[in-house]
Amino acid sequence: MPENFAPVLLSWYRKHKRDLPWRRSKDPYRIWVSEIMLQQTTVNAVIPYYERWFKQFPTVKVLARADIHQVLKAWQGLGYYARAKNLHKAAKVVSKRHGGLLPKDPHLVRSLPGFGPYTTGSVLSIAYDVPLTIIDANVRRVVMRVEALPGQADAKQDKVVGEFLCTVFPRKSPGDFNQALMELGALVCRNKEPLCIQCPVSQFCEAFKKGTQEIIPQPKARVIKNLEAVIAIIEKDGKYFIQKRPPKGLLADLWEFPGGKIKAGETKIQALRREMKEELNSSLESARYLFNVTHFYTQFRVNLSVFACKPSIWPKNDALHKWVSLISLRGYPMPSGSAKIVQRFSLSG
Ligand code: SF4
Repeated sequence: MPENFAPVLLSWYRKHKRDLPWRRSKDPYRIWVSEIMLQQTTVNAVIPYYERWFKQFPTVKVLARADIHQVLKAWQGLGYYARAKNLHKAAKVVSKRHGGLLPKDPHLVRSLPGFGPYTTGSVLSIAYDVPLTIIDANVRRVVMRVEALPGQADAKQDKVVGEFLCTVFPRKSPGDFNQALMELGALVCRNKEPLCIQCPVSQFCEAFKKGTQEIIPQPKARVIKNLEAVIAIIEKDGKYFIQKRPPKGLLADLWEFPGGKIKAGETKIQALRREMKEELNSSLESARYLFNVTHFYTQFRVNLSVFACKPSIWPKNDALHKWVSLISLRGYPMPSGSAKIVQRFSLSG
């Protein structure tokens, strides 16, 4: 690979990079938070979260002192809540052991919660110019095309992709180089319809020379599952009943309305009765259909049928079960489906 791959790419990046809030600072904490937020989430979705986050948690020490409830609430809607929990745990360690400043040593950083090879490489290279290569979906796709690698874009490619990166990795500005490759993947070497005519590295690109850029990487068959669930809204004297999810597993520690998946062969009312028994040890006295809410996750689409329900036994307030007003509901961290239901109430209330 010619030596001028990196200079050409860097010069394009410096002219064409997007003006994003986290690119206006070299503060390692800001870069760290942006990198965690950007995993599995689009740039446009992240910007308002990022700006609100730094109003609420301006430093690592402030984040470390915050209650996890506040942290999860600030994260609500970004998904993958384990990332927020790890960020909070790592902030406590950085605050206690490193005076609130993220260390530069990759070994120390790798030992923090939430720091795998990708996050360590991206944060340290961007914040401190530590010479670490990184591979994300954009980098993998660009390199597969430049090298005309066969197969799907998955982790099996990463040995060859990593070898390529080592051959072109610049001594100066490793952080900008990493960002430049990701930016190229996001803006030019897009998944569908890459803009090869505008591409700064087309002269080095084997797929472009062969005309195979549209079929590299080989597309994956994506299976989206549909899930049907019922949700019970239990209201008494203007207060709504919510419960906390278990501390481990999907959407751990978030608050939600009672309910769950409809099992094969069940009607919605039968599912509500069963959920009421399992979750609240109560019978269902009445159920009135209110509305439907649909939410998309990466691998599935959930259709929530929402009912106003009356149980035979009213559940009690305790650490894991709460009766809260509509206004207070908005302060609880919730999965996106439950948050959408609260929003519907707020609009109609
Ligand atoms: Fe991607 Fe086309 Fe550039 Fe090759 S020439 S890196 S396929 S945009």
